[in-house]
Order: sequence, then C-alpha cells, then structure tokens
Amino acid sequence: PAVIVAIDGPSGTGKSSTSKAVAAQLGLSYLDTGAQYRAITWWMVTNGIDITDPTAVAAVAGKPEIVSGTDPSAPTITVDGTDVSGPIRTQEVTSKVSAVSAVPEIRARITELQRSLAASAQNGIVVEGRDIGTTVLPDADLKIFLTASPEARAARRSGELKGADLHATREALIKRDTADSSRKTSPLAKAGDAVEVDTTDLTLQQVIECVVTLVEE
Ligand code: C5P
Repeated sequence: PAVIVAIDGPSGTGKSSTSKAVAAQLGLSYLDTGAQYRAITWWMVTNGIDITDPTAVAAVAGKPEIVSGTDPSAPTITVDGTDVSGPIRTQEVTSKVSAVSAVPEIRARITELQRSLAASAQNGIVVEGRDIGTTVLPDADLKIFLTASPEARAARRSGELKGADLHATREALIKRDTADSSRKTSPLAKAGDAVEVDTTDLTLQQVIECVVTLVEE
C-alpha cells in the first residue's frame, strides 16, 4: 500500500536532506512544497507583481503553471515550462516567499497541487513543508516534526550558503519562521499526532535512520 509521510518544521532543521534520503531509501516519491511556494513567488517577482499587496497576489494566483518532479534523486520544479530550481533559491525570493505564501488563494492553489501529487504517487510519498501534517495531508500514515535550536539551524544554513554571515542568517531565518508561524491560514505548526525529533545534536545520518525506523514500524 502507498505510504504517506509528512515532514514539517522550520527552516534549517534538515527537512529537505532528510526527506530526500528517506524517500530514496524506501523507494518513495518526494515532494518539496517549499519549492512550490518559492516558484510561485519567483513568478510574482519576475512579473512585477507587488507582493506586499495580498489582493494583487490573489488576483494572479491561478496564472503560473507549477510542475514538480517527484524523483528523490533528481527533484525538479518548473514554472510555465521553465526550470527554476536555481532562481528560486536567491535571497530575493527567500525574503519574499513568506508574504506570498500567506495569501489564502495561493495556499488553496498549491495545496490542491500537493494533494493531487500525493494521491498519484504509486508507492507512496514523502512530503516536506510547514503545514503538511496539519492541513495538506491530515491522514498521513506518519507525521514528523523536526526541530533544532536557532543556533544549529543558522549554522547549517550559513554552511549551505558558503560564507554567509552567521548573525544575518540567524536573523533572516527567525524572521521567516515567525512570519510562517503567525499567518492566519495554515501556519507552520506541529500536528497533534506528529512525532517531534530534535535534530540539534544529531547527525543527518542519525535523523535519516530515526525517520526510516519510524516509517518501518
Ligand atoms: O522549505 P523552504 O524554506 O524552501 O520554504 C520556503 C517558504 O515557503 C517558507 O518560508 C514558507 O513561507 C513557505 N511554505 C509554506 N508552506 C509549506 C512549505 C513552505 O508556507 N508547506
């Protein structure tokens, strides 16, 4: 039977690396829902939409076609046929994605895409995000909520960004998590039936093993 795994948590907790590895090990599909919100944000920025105006954002929420490839060894994301896997990781998109993803019409649109991808995954899927266990897939077979201290999260993120200032990274990360946790529509939150894993003192390999064990139980 198709197994559905929801992995939520704030940025820098190792969600993406863990989710991809778990999916690859277990032969499941993989969906990075943050990439979808980043892709629609990239489209808004590219098309000159004022992202501080929720009405303007909502008006064009249905316009871009967002397509996610769910192979964990080579995940892809396109907007109207253009590969945007690079451009969605810029600082500009990162700083604007929380405002765009807070717009209910955007969430409705992206949530629908996520549910349809999960329903069509033959062997099952690992879906990572902020509201997967609470809102997108409340009937998931396993829900994981990853946490880590702000220091550990900032250190991991600035390691990924090669040479980025640790303090600035920490501030930007906290700002984004605060925005994501305080929005009205499906905020970043731990589902009541999620298993919380604090990754602060764990290696990536340990987190992967822990989640694989939980799936197999
Ligand atoms: O995971 P990542 O850092 O790429 O997510 C980018 C942003 O997308 C988050 O900061 C959040 O604003 C939004 N997001 C969301 N719901 C999800 C996944 C991501 O609102 N399920």
